Amino acid sequence: MKETQVQKTKRLEEIISRLAPKYPHPITALRFTNSFELLVATVLAAQATDKRVNIVTPTFFPKYNAPAKLLTLGEEKFRTLVSSLNLYKTKSKNILALSKILVEKHHGKVPNIREDLEFLPGVGRKTASVVLANAFHIPAFPVDTHVFRVTRRLGLTNGKNPLEVEKDITALLPEKNWIDAHHYFVFHGREICTAPKPKCSICPLVDICPYTPKNLIPKN
Ligand code: SF4
Repeated sequence: MKETQVQKTKRLEEIISRLAPKYPHPITALRFTNSFELLVATVLAAQATDKRVNIVTPTFFPKYNAPAKLLTLGEEKFRTLVSSLNLYKTKSKNILALSKILVEKHHGKVPNIREDLEFLPGVGRKTASVVLANAFHIPAFPVDTHVFRVTRRLGLTNGKNPLEVEKDITALLPEKNWIDAHHYFVFHGREICTAPKPKCSICPLVDICPYTPKNLIPKN
């Protein structure tokens, strides 16, 4: 029988209540000390792991932690500093271009408005959501590869793209829970509900997940 929205909401609440104690510090793994650093780190994290980004950013963040300062590096030098990351040529170009816009249009500050963020080169909906949520604590639900996979396996959404998933999940949850829920799904996806093979046998959600293999479904 198809699950109603009310039943789905209840199950999502149960999922969150089980994940919350496992992840008492729901914050991004990216290291940053201000909103500009977070924006740069998030752009660099596209198709790269947070871990890898955290190795690269300390080579320039302490000295170049504001758009005007980063611009003084110049494209060639900055490109070399981030060259160990995927798509580093495009990313370095975008980061310098967005730094210029921040200086010229936003007094060197990162805006806390989605439309302004998404106007910046290399910044899409997910990156804007990460910055809004983690730098400004504005409710947002970034859908990365982990959130997309986990919420679909859990049968909370059939969304075919990140935007559809975001709409489905945010419709089930109060705004105040969006940011934490995002982090729980990221952590759970990294540690337990991994791609391609989820670790269902040690998953705390095994009895309320439709993806659970038949032999692991509890008997009563
Ligand atoms: S039971 Fe398996 S598929 Fe479902 S959330 Fe847990 S690890 Fe993922």
